[in-house]
Amino acid sequence: MSSPAASPLLPVFARSELAFERGEGCWLVTTDGDRYLDFAAGVAVNALGHSHPHLVAALTEQAQKLWHVSNLYRIPEGERLAQRLVDASFADVVFFCNSGAEALEASIKLARKHFHANGQPERYRLITFEGAFHGRTLATIAAGGQAKYLEGFGPKVEGFDQVPFGDLAAVEAAIGPETAGVLIEPLQGEGGVRLVPPAFMRSLRELCDRHGLLLVVDEVQSGVGRTGHLFAHEISGVTPDVMAVAKGIGGGFPLGACLATRDAADGMTAGVHGSTFGGNPLAMAVGNAVLDVVLEPGFLDHARRMGLLLKQRLAGVVDAHRSIVTEVRGEGLLTGLRCAIPNGDVAAAFRAEGLLTVGAGDNVVRLLPPLIVTEAEIGEAIAKIERALDRIKRDMGLALARGAAE
Ligand SMILES: *Cc1c(COP(=O)(O)O)cnc(C)c1O
Repeated sequence: MSSPAASPLLPVFARSELAFERGEGCWLVTTDGDRYLDFAAGVAVNALGHSHPHLVAALTEQAQKLWHVSNLYRIPEGERLAQRLVDASFADVVFFCNSGAEALEASIKLARKHFHANGQPERYRLITFEGAFHGRTLATIAAGGQAKYLEGFGPKVEGFDQVPFGDLAAVEAAIGPETAGVLIEPLQGEGGVRLVPPAFMRSLRELCDRHGLLLVVDEVQSGVGRTGHLFAHEISGVTPDVMAVAKGIGGGFPLGACLATRDAADGMTAGVHGSTFGGNPLAMAVGNAVLDVVLEPGFLDHARRMGLLLKQRLAGVVDAHRSIVTEVRGEGLLTGLRCAIPNGDVAAAFRAEGLLTVGAGDNVVRLLPPLIVTEAEIGEAIAKIERALDRIKRDMGLALARGAAE
């Protein structure tokens, strides 16, 4: 492999040296034949693991018929997927795109256009939360509000008012004559696996109703079974008006969607928004195949059960290794370990034991196994985690001893 300095890739990612050749379920195999237990799942994307036979069959079958026609024509597989998403959620209508950021862009535009279409064009601002992550386009970095993603990219897109996580009084104070709604991840992923308390979600809904605002949820990471519920907002019993979905819904095929009530979407008429690739037959075939599995009776129960087991086992790990990991967070299979030493060091130690995880904000390591993970695989992951933490402790002890000897 060429050295990073000579790479033709734009160096925007800090990549590990690992390169994988194939995957089977929760396992990834490198080009050298080493096997890794994948608790990163492509950052919560491979909901059904790798090479799931039903997804492989759906994609290959569609690939032999038709790949792309554009949205100039009807796409029956897309109409079917939209209807199934509508039947399974609060929504009445669906817009398909190719990524999470695009699903957010569509959600933001839809919210603004709703007020424009209803005689209140001045209402275009969305209230967002500290620690949020909504994508990397110009509008979504403005919505996320993180300085490290905004810096150097010119004026921030107007129209986002950020308040502290979980601060209801601050939300209320931020509501003004230009406010269109509230945009929130029911469970912050990149921000450090922080669940929004269900009572807070319900208060947001009440505030939105009282002020005639739209509640927009970003379920790009938390949706499609990740929390053991089809969508994370269901945990609070709150019904949003608009929802962005991506990651897990394509099982690894690029697919995003914006779901909305007919009322919220009333400004979105022919020509006001679009996408060339969005809803293409390959993506629709895979999306339908993902839903075939996720909506099967018992599937979400399994994810919920495995999530509970993982959390219990991780709580035991925290008890035994408090000097390195201090807290278990999350819901279902969107879990995190808060670290007392740099989270990158912990993830690297896990990787050295053959376990893949992902970093997150607030010094957290995320564990995001495929939703098909088994009890035995969770046991293997815990064994690897124990070994990694023991090694870190040993190395820290050695370093201390060396320091004392000097
Ligand atoms: C990953 C993510 C996005 C952005 O998705 P992309 O597909 O990378 O554009 C947006 N919101 C949340 C909550 C995410 O986790």
